[in-house]
Amino acid sequence: MDWMDKTLVEVRDALAAGAVSAGDLVRGYLGRIEKRNPRINAYHEVWTQRALAQAAAVDQGAFRGRPLAGVPLAIKDNLCTQVGATTCGSRMIEHFHAPYTATAVQKLEEAGAIILGKTNLDEFAMGSSNENCAWGPVKNPCDETRVPGGSSGGSAAAVAAGMCAGALGSDTGGSIRLPAAWCGVVGLKPSYGRVSRYGLVAFASSLDQIGVFGRCVDDAALLLGVIAGPYPLDSTCAPRPVPDYRAAAHESPQGLKIGVAREYLSPANDPAVQRMMETALARFRAAGVAVVEVSLPHTPYGISTYYIVCTAEASSNLARYDGVRYGYRSAAAQDLIQVYSRTRQEAFGPEVKRRIMLGTYVLSSGYYDAYYLKALRVRRLIKEDFDRAFGQCDAIVCPTSTGPAFKLGDQSDDPLKMYLNDVYTVNCNLAGIPGISLPGATVEVEGCQLPLGLQLLGPVFEEAKLLRLARVYEGGQ
Ligand code: GLN
Repeated sequence: MDWMDKTLVEVRDALAAGAVSAGDLVRGYLGRIEKRNPRINAYHEVWTQRALAQAAAVDQGAFRGRPLAGVPLAIKDNLCTQVGATTCGSRMIEHFHAPYTATAVQKLEEAGAIILGKTNLDEFAMGSSNENCAWGPVKNPCDETRVPGGSSGGSAAAVAAGMCAGALGSDTGGSIRLPAAWCGVVGLKPSYGRVSRYGLVAFASSLDQIGVFGRCVDDAALLLGVIAGPYPLDSTCAPRPVPDYRAAAHESPQGLKIGVAREYLSPANDPAVQRMMETALARFRAAGVAVVEVSLPHTPYGISTYYIVCTAEASSNLARYDGVRYGYRSAAAQDLIQVYSRTRQEAFGPEVKRRIMLGTYVLSSGYYDAYYLKALRVRRLIKEDFDRAFGQCDAIVCPTSTGPAFKLGDQSDDPLKMYLNDVYTVNCNLAGIPGISLPGATVEVEGCQLPLGLQLLGPVFEEAKLLRLARVYEGGQ
């Protein structure tokens, strides 16, 4: 087996033991990128020379003893990096060079990681399929005629295809968990405030959170431990100590209780999703984890609430792309108003425009109370559902999506259908709680084995417990 198909933890341990050099490893991943990226389009930029130079330094003893010394990773292209461009998959900031590096990326580099490049995403992280990317859609490595899921599809596809050992993504309404599920990898969205958002280009600031991709639960635990923790320039980041997530993931699950929410066992689920849930429950029971039924009655309002809150915040956050401060400016503009309007008309894609219009509408006087304010109230009810449920159990198990990845182009003309892909992921962001998607089952469609994700949701800042239960499921496979 190639190193590129092993887990991040295996790669890390092999590097530390001297069983492989960072140079050979980086060359291996670069070779894989050369072979697979032209079709999959996971990377927008690859930092070949820099990665090789860093690998040489690691092989000469740099970063010795650090947790990620020599481990090759990929970064979603909405995380600012001083190296290369930060485009967010948008023509608007195609040539934007950030003056600073996002805290999460900086922490990875301080831990000795080697960043191989920046991965493609739906424009400004708005989407569920990765088809809204100005640099072309990302393809699913399990079946290149299908979408990888969005918006962190590039990161998920890069991990799944062995083009990096692990990756960072961002999750506002499911953008880590959905692509992880559809590409067959592990994706973890931490609690709101667990990881600093400093340097993450804002989409919906009350929902956005940086998270990680790996091949197994240990990979996710290791990466989370490195990027978590407070940062003085981000007041929304919680000043809480960071536990040893890897050690916590290996503790006994005895005495823990897992909840099944009946609202997630919908008839809309693919039969293979129902079977995956049954297998999961059997595995938990076999490991001594009690299974209890819980109810999250406001679940059906999640999608409408999310698409009001996120569009409202997006319309405000994206006002900064005005053709004046940075990024694209229309050459055809004759006056100041045209600088704004033509710039935005020419450089934003259709989905971003739709979100800005929806968001402006729900915030406008006369509609604010009926839409935005009401959505905030429902958001509170959704959070209270989880608070009540977590009084009865330690985590909730549910599917990540109702079915496997769909064909490229299949939902492009139907925004509502596209939004409904997030039905099982958005409530987690609205409540600010952590969620993880694990490779669940596979389902055979047209001769291809397509992955499905099993999702675990936990109480706020209880990532350690979530990881422990995730390992129970993974270990039973
Ligand atoms: N699919 C969701 C959306 O389009 C989630 C995106 C995300 O988490 N960044 O808003």
